[in-house]
Amino acid sequence: MDEAEIEGFREALLRLQAELRGLEKVALESTKPVELDQSRVGRLSRMDAMQGQQMALEVARRRKQQLVKIEGALRRIELGTFGDCYVCGEPIDLRRLSIDPTNTRCVGCVE
Ligand SMILES: [Zn+2]
Repeated sequence: MDEAEIEGFREALLRLQAELRGLEKVALESTKPVELDQSRVGRLSRMDAMQGQQMALEVARRRKQQLVKIEGALRRIELGTFGDCYVCGEPIDLRRLSIDPTNTRCVGCVE
């Protein structure tokens, strides 16, 4: 992989990182404890609200995982090991990295 390609991945990773951090900020609102006025809303809408909160928490958990993976990929770029399979050390297919630059294993080692 040449420097321009690595730089392209770095930019894509940084963009994704900024986007996820922005979403995290916005989402803090929706993961606050459910406090509803029982006199105004019925039991069903309270359950809806709690279900929505569960989903928001799940989304937040995945977002955090994704951010950790992005940080890992950025660190590998700094170290010069980006694009190498974590398991066998062989270069990971470029198309595979284009789909997800946080991939750490080649196709052979995932299967
Ligand atoms: Zn491998």
